[in-house]
Amino acid sequence: MKRYVFKGKLILCKSLHIGSGEYSIRTDAAVVRRRDGSFYIPGTTVGGVFRSVVESLAHYIEGLSTCAFGKSCFDQKKKPGEECSTCALFGFGSNASKITVEDSALLNGITDIEDIEDIEEVRDGVGIHRKAEASREKVKFDYEIIPAGSQFGFEISVENLTSQDKWLVALGLNEFASGFCSLGGRTTTGLGNFKLDLEEAYEIDLNNLETLVQLLKTNTPDSAWERTPHDLINGWYKDLNIDVDKIRERKEQWKIPNFCSIKLKLSIAEALLVKSGDPSLPGPEEYDARFVSTTRIREDGSHEEVQFLPGSSLKGIFRSRCEKIIRTLGVMACDPQEDSDGEVISCAKQFKDLEKELEKERGVKLQPDKIYKDSCLVCKLFGSSYM
Ligand SMILES: [Zn+2]
Ligand SMILES: [Zn+2]
Repeated sequence: MKRYVFKGKLILCKSLHIGSGEYSIRTDAAVVRRRDGSFYIPGTTVGGVFRSVVESLAHYIEGLSTCAFGKSCFDQKKKPGEECSTCALFGFGSNASKITVEDSALLNGITDIEDIEDIEEVRDGVGIHRKAEASREKVKFDYEIIPAGSQFGFEISVENLTSQDKWLVALGLNEFASGFCSLGGRTTTGLGNFKLDLEEAYEIDLNNLETLVQLLKTNTPDSAWERTPHDLINGWYKDLNIDVDKIRERKEQWKIPNFCSIKLKLSIAEALLVKSGDPSLPGPEEYDARFVSTTRIREDGSHEEVQFLPGSSLKGIFRSRCEKIIRTLGVMACDPQEDSDGEVISCAKQFKDLEKELEKERGVKLQPDKIYKDSCLVCKLFGSSYM
């Protein structure tokens, strides 16, 4: 039996917000703080993201299968040997996983404090005043930031792999390296996006008694077992058959939303101020408002303070413009801030009232597909606090 160990770094593509209390639930669930104040991402979280990435790929590759998008192998009461490819690798029921994922510790200690409005509302583009198209004055919350460029450790070990298992692991590692994976699962917001930089790989022959004894004694891989990660993965890909026609065919039924990334430059036509609530930011004393800034970590590990336009502010303005245009076209678009009666009363408020009634009368909750179906066009695209 052979064990393979892969080590590297997870590099954050965007800053992560670490809050406290109820406002942090959605944003920072991925990152946990130890008693001593240091941060880490639990191995179960990284492993969960790895599994979901692998499952979405296994779905349309010749020779691989996954139950992730239908009735699970466990629910189908499958016996060992009958399970799908991803259950064979990650385990199901009482069958153990062949993958162990270590906790990912934050390698650099820098965190920053930033004032952010209610994250959930800001992220959906709701926290923009519709008439002034500026951020509403509201209670600000302190958020700790783990800056973009921050690095977390990464280590997985896999053992007793079939060639199918090897394909899955290789696909997952390559997808992690692509930078399109996110700690928040499959989000399109870019929140929690990271990139894997694979640095070391080891091939450990556990059938070799000397190797086994050495490993048991030292618990660290010997340099003699080291392989180039890239070569190892490419070797595993050898017999993998990616059938393009099949991918085309299956794409129709693919359950994962497609992804599009557009990069553009904004030119500022007039003076612009995106105010930071932090008075301790650098700048001349006499200014009572400062531009928002954040800490970024350069590739060489040093850090710098940079000014930026928060994506949440841009999204809010984008959303409010969309609302206006849609209404001009005679299509209904709610005002997410309107919670009294009226034509543009927010979808969220309507669902809240409806759900209250439903719960009182029949003790049931609103179903997500019903909420999506009955939301206005703009909420369907940008989200609301009920989605
Ligand atoms: Zn399965
Ligand atoms: Zn709406």
